[in-house]
Amino acid sequence: MIVVGNCESWPGIETTARHLQQGAHGLDALVPGLSLVEAEAKVRSVGYGGWPNLLGEMEFDASVMNGTTRDYGAVAAVPMTLEVTRLARAVLENLPHTMLVGEGARRYADELGLARDPVLLEHSKEVWWRKLEDVMTPEQKDAFPNTDLAPLTRAITDPEKVRDTTVFLCKDSRNNICTATSTSGWAWKYPGRVGDSPIPGAGFYADSRYGGAACTHTGEMTMRCSTARTVVLAMKLGMSLDDALRLAVTELQELKSGYTGGVVIHAIDAAGHHRVINVGCEEDIIYWIWTPQLGKPVKQQALKAEDLLTGRVEALS
Ligand code: ASP
Repeated sequence: MIVVGNCESWPGIETTARHLQQGAHGLDALVPGLSLVEAEAKVRSVGYGGWPNLLGEMEFDASVMNGTTRDYGAVAAVPMTLEVTRLARAVLENLPHTMLVGEGARRYADELGLARDPVLLEHSKEVWWRKLEDVMTPEQKDAFPNTDLAPLTRAITDPEKVRDTTVFLCKDSRNNICTATSTSGWAWKYPGRVGDSPIPGAGFYADSRYGGAACTHTGEMTMRCSTARTVVLAMKLGMSLDDALRLAVTELQELKSGYTGGVVIHAIDAAGHHRVINVGCEEDIIYWIWTPQLGKPVKQQALKAEDLLTGRVEALS
């Protein structure tokens, strides 16, 4: 058994580990852990602590995937809803669809009895308006929100500073490999922008026979490269976890146009090895890992992509 969570998974990883230890299915372990992260205002990228879009409205993306059946459920640009991972799970379990967006996703949340949550923190609202005021002309300010937003997106969006995702990957006691993701996406994003977290193959993918992967940071890149699926498919084709990650990293580094930035790939293989790779993020990337041998979740530092590519890494055993 193993669970890997990114830096911001701290409010929930212990709960997920406990469920796994008690023999729960991977999805039954991941969703309650992620719900705790979504409710924690100190996590400034997900749920209650996240940042709004350019209009000052919160829009959440989330997903879950069962690598044994390859079923997934996802929701995108959902307003007024904290427990979006739970909502994504309900899409997987109950609907003949795999993804709901926007008002349709919120409507389904109503049917499930999920509260219409007051999701915008007062502090997030203040920071959002201050950022906007800094870049708007007096005319734009008078007209807001009836003014073109596209010029403002470029002016205030600094995704390197204000965005992240919570991702969890696990292998449970019956060898099911599952993933779950949840995010408020880029701060001050254009309304309706959807990142990689609800996109299968980009922000997450799992196949219990080979492994699973989930990504954080620049979703605009992992969506162009199908990064999570690349890692898992490469293992299906016979590559080791490290070689699969080398391929995925190389594909990301080949992107020269469009919006480019850092990406973090979290991955496990069917044998229970894991790697977390920092592809171009300037800051040190921390993640959490739990196995029964470790006893409790511990923090580790991600490997730099350059070290993986040049072979300066200890072999997985
Ligand atoms: N990957 C997320 C997105 O593009 C954001 C992040 O993880 O930083 O929405």
